[in-house]
Amino acid sequence: MITLQELDPNKTVVVATGNAHKVTEIEAILAPEMPGVRFVALGELGDYPDPVEDGETFFDNALIKARAAQAETGLPMAVADDSGLCVDALDGAPGIFSARWAGEHGNDLANNEKLMAQMADVPQEARTARFHSSIALVRGNEVLRGDGDCEGFVGFEPRGDGGFGYDPLFLPNDTPGKTMAELTADEKNAISHRFHALEDLASKL
Ligand code: IMP
Repeated sequence: MITLQELDPNKTVVVATGNAHKVTEIEAILAPEMPGVRFVALGELGDYPDPVEDGETFFDNALIKARAAQAETGLPMAVADDSGLCVDALDGAPGIFSARWAGEHGNDLANNEKLMAQMADVPQEARTARFHSSIALVRGNEVLRGDGDCEGFVGFEPRGDGGFGYDPLFLPNDTPGKTMAELTADEKNAISHRFHALEDLASKL
């Protein structure tokens, strides 16, 4: 645990995610643009409740999380992301509902089974999809935004044990023949929607 007193409010960015990998990824891309700034996961500062993500877009939900981290810690700078899978044949679903599409929040197995069932009769050429990520960085009242996509298509059956979420059923165009769950973490980070969103945000800093 880190205490708030240890931190310089003007040199700290709170990262509003429970995922340690995301903190590393966010820091790696944004730190060079914010010299001297320390990135601290919200969970290292205390046990704060998750805000209700009732926005209508990925960006709305990212901003809800960043604003909540700002309010909970009293620190002026916070960053959060929100992401999901958008499938063309399903009119963009599961989209912002990706984590809880099959009911229970974060049940990846059930979500992938639902995706396979809904796509069972969709031919190869109509299986196009993308992961989208939106990132919100708040600095006091200022809001900066980054967006990124990873284009690909939905496979017919899951493959691979890496990653999380819909990775076993998603084949990125950048890595032909491989699902996202068959990539190493470095390979995924080099092409992911989050990487592109962070680069977009970094270009605005
Ligand atoms: P979050 O915004 O990271 O909480 O992601 C919301 C949901 O979108 C996750 O629970 C996954 O179902 C899906 N998702 C987001 N990013 C990825 C990814 O990189 N791979 C697989 N699924 C993802």
